[in-house]
Amino acid sequence: MSNSDQSRVQTASLSPDKVMHKLVSLAKRRGFIFPSSEIYGGLSSCFDYGPLGSEMKKNIKDLWWHSMTRRHANIVGIDASIMMNPTVWEASGHVASFNDPMIDDRTTKRRYRADHLIENHIEKLRRDGKTEQAAKVQKAYEAVAEAPDANRALYELILAEAIKAPDTGSGDWTEVRQFNLMFQCAMGAVADTSNIVYLRPETAQGIFVNFHNVREASRMKVPFGIAQIGKAFRNEIVKGNFIFRMVEFEQMEMQYFVKPGTQIEAFEAWREERFNWYIDVLGINREKLHWYKHDKLAHYADLAYDIKFAFPFGIEEIEGIHSRTDFDLSQHQKYSGKNMEYIDQTTNERYIPYVVETSSGSDRLFLALLSDAYQEDVVDGEPRVMLKLSPRVAPVKAAVLPLMKKGEMGEKADRLRDDLSKSFLVQYDDAASIGKRYRRQDEIGTPFCFTVDHQSLEDNTITVRYRDSASQERIDMARAAEFLGAKLV
Ligand code: ATP
Repeated sequence: MSNSDQSRVQTASLSPDKVMHKLVSLAKRRGFIFPSSEIYGGLSSCFDYGPLGSEMKKNIKDLWWHSMTRRHANIVGIDASIMMNPTVWEASGHVASFNDPMIDDRTTKRRYRADHLIENHIEKLRRDGKTEQAAKVQKAYEAVAEAPDANRALYELILAEAIKAPDTGSGDWTEVRQFNLMFQCAMGAVADTSNIVYLRPETAQGIFVNFHNVREASRMKVPFGIAQIGKAFRNEIVKGNFIFRMVEFEQMEMQYFVKPGTQIEAFEAWREERFNWYIDVLGINREKLHWYKHDKLAHYADLAYDIKFAFPFGIEEIEGIHSRTDFDLSQHQKYSGKNMEYIDQTTNERYIPYVVETSSGSDRLFLALLSDAYQEDVVDGEPRVMLKLSPRVAPVKAAVLPLMKKGEMGEKADRLRDDLSKSFLVQYDDAASIGKRYRRQDEIGTPFCFTVDHQSLEDNTITVRYRDSASQERIDMARAAEFLGAKLV
């Protein structure tokens, strides 16, 4: 960008609490995300992706799929069914323990996750430099799992620390109760307990039960991975923050099967690769990404980290990376009676592989990308809203804008749109002033605008206008597709 371009663009400062409100309204107005069944008053935490949202979400999933499968010769994908034999969820431990501890505030009638209240309290103590007290509470929190009555232990810890609700400051707590997050439904004509099926709460189990099918069909040798993108359902106690916590959402998961004893090395390699993916492939700001190491591990894990993102409402998880040991395959061996061992053909060793899992959510990531990209600035003295999305993520890659809609200019623009649309999603816009049309594209994150003007009629060149700098240059119209292709590599 030249100095003169810089003086044309001035970034305005934005208060973080207003950003969410602006994002929700932009998302609806421009067709990224609508409330589900809105004409009937909507449904809590359910959303529909509109024309631009579904394109952008598809881009996110395609980028993940490409990075995780095409770029790794030893990772293949599957698409397993949402409903599975219910014994799967007994084996995985979800029926017995996919519970969240909930607690209610009698005064405000609001509901919270008891574990989240304590974790946030520990974080706050650490931030305030009260490290000794933080360590003491952390120790007590870890001891909850061993307590004869875990609910009571959580409740007592909340009272002992005088923890208040973060949003209201109230703390008129009820006892803690466990709540199973799985949605149940009945399969078949008669609804009774014998035909209960669950909507899967994670995509991972569809991968574990297909371990041997995939290994045999794809002639895979350990280490190898299976990737999957699909819907998951959780009856979340605390919903909200737009698409951050939904009851129906989409996961992008990969389970990497390794020889026992090599899992930590594999874990570290995946940890690095996944973190860099957000920066190198999606273009997220490095400063907004954070690591969180789990001190309290799930029963199946021997190491776990989260990648967190600085959302306008706080730093929250977007991906979990877990070393899941041989827990899942061993459980499926136990419950199904089928041997889940792997036989190493060269050494004749038999073992149940260990698993390193990378698990992210495309909806949460969508919100992270939107909030990372949202900017307000002033160009040539006029305010504008811009989504500074990476060209790879942006739903529309380029706009074709004829200065005049009629005659040869319009025809040339038509041909350009037709040519580009063979490979890219482009928009054609011939209504309103050129400045207004640029702003319409800035607001949906279109990285490039191609303007067909008077000079185009003389020498077949067009103006490329760059979204971020608002700077312009001329290129040969015949090179437009090549130009775009190079920006999307
Ligand atoms: P949280 O602690 O926020 O509930 P989690 O640790 O239960 O998340 P995982 O089970 O590790 O989440 O799921 C992996 C990913 O799936 C998360 O990092 C997130 O991106 C996504 N995810 C999980 N629950 C939801 C949800 N209710 N809505 C949207 N995305 C979700």
